Amino acid sequence: MQECIFCQIAQKKSTAFIVYENEETMAFLDIFPSNKGHTLIIPKKHYENIEEIPEKQLIEIAKTTKKVSQAIKEATDAQGFNIILNNGKTAGQLIMHLHFHIVPRFENDNLKLTFKSNKAEKEELEETLKKIKQKIK
Ligand code: AMP
Ligand code: ZN
Repeated sequence: MQECIFCQIAQKKSTAFIVYENEETMAFLDIFPSNKGHTLIIPKKHYENIEEIPEKQLIEIAKTTKKVSQAIKEATDAQGFNIILNNGKTAGQLIMHLHFHIVPRFENDNLKLTFKSNKAEKEELEETLKKIKQKIK
């Protein structure tokens, strides 16, 4: 018995509310939705995170995300949606099979997905910029 629940869903060994699938990707409803229509997009093959997934597969995920998010918006009359990737345990990833969340948003839905903003000095930004640019491959 495979341990990864999203692999099981991809292989139809576990049930899910599948809204769309193609050869490489699948979209299904989150069973603990933050809002009505909350959907997860996965690659059918197991990749843990964005570092692991090849670019080609990531493009397929992006295409499915675009297709499905538009359908969700129309179907739920949402005014907008958040696309979220919790990448790594520290970032809140609980299921270690890469997945994008599409969370439809409604006026006054009281959902809080906020980032705290901190003032940064110019020197600090420049130092960070230099470090990151050196690592771009
Ligand atoms: P994350 O914190 O990004 O790893 O989120 C995992 C998400 O998967 C959560 O929002 C869960 O509600 C959702 N989830 C867990 N098990 C299932 C399942 N069997 N079917 C659909 N969604 C699930
Ligand atoms: Zn998996």
